[in-house]
Amino acid sequence: MIEENLAQIRHSLPDGVVLVAVSKFQPESAIECAYRVGQRVFAESRPQELAVKYRELPKDIEWHMIGHLQTNKVRMIIPFVSLIHSVDSLRLAEVINQEAERCGRVVDVLLEVLVASEQSKFGWTPDELLKALDLRAFEQLSAIRIRGLMGMATFTDDMSRVSSEFDQLHSIFGRVKAEFLPDIDILSMGMSDDYQIAVDHGSTMVRVGSSIFGSR
Ligand SMILES: *Cc1c(COP(=O)(O)O)cnc(C)c1O
Repeated sequence: MIEENLAQIRHSLPDGVVLVAVSKFQPESAIECAYRVGQRVFAESRPQELAVKYRELPKDIEWHMIGHLQTNKVRMIIPFVSLIHSVDSLRLAEVINQEAERCGRVVDVLLEVLVASEQSKFGWTPDELLKALDLRAFEQLSAIRIRGLMGMATFTDDMSRVSSEFDQLHSIFGRVKAEFLPDIDILSMGMSDDYQIAVDHGSTMVRVGSSIFGSR
């Protein structure tokens, strides 16, 4: 089942779009199953669960953190995490930077942008983000590397609204790249229900859980 789901999703993604398998709340056996058919990028939303799975599963897995991250949990994942998608405040960026420095690492991160009109409480509004960049807020943080942006669309059946929110994310990504961070190359958007729309709107990385592993 997992093998077929993965094959089907991979087949539907254009070249260059990275498939992140969201394995939160899934047993290690499910991850091993995806691993056996070549999946190497997995994401979790809770630091504890991420740390346990990292310890117990093959070391060539690339682990991403996608959920809201409390500053007091940062230390738990910094030694091994490949990409943190959910940097939603300057304070969190500073703590990640500090812990990364302590570990002698440079950690890749995405800034989470809030465009959905309900549900998610976390992320920078486009205005807040542009303002922070304008103030060079991240400039001293040499142990983090901002690779791009992450966002979520509103949970709704209204696909025109989902499209328009992905459009907004894509355009803020273009603006940030043109005006502030020319090297950014990751736009993480799209989940099980909307990844195809996200890809149509310029996503370079989709985070898919239940369509691979089944419901949680
Ligand atoms: C859980 C989660 C996903 C995956 O959701 P599915 O609908 O199961 O594909 C993607 N992104 C984030 C931030 C999540 O928390």
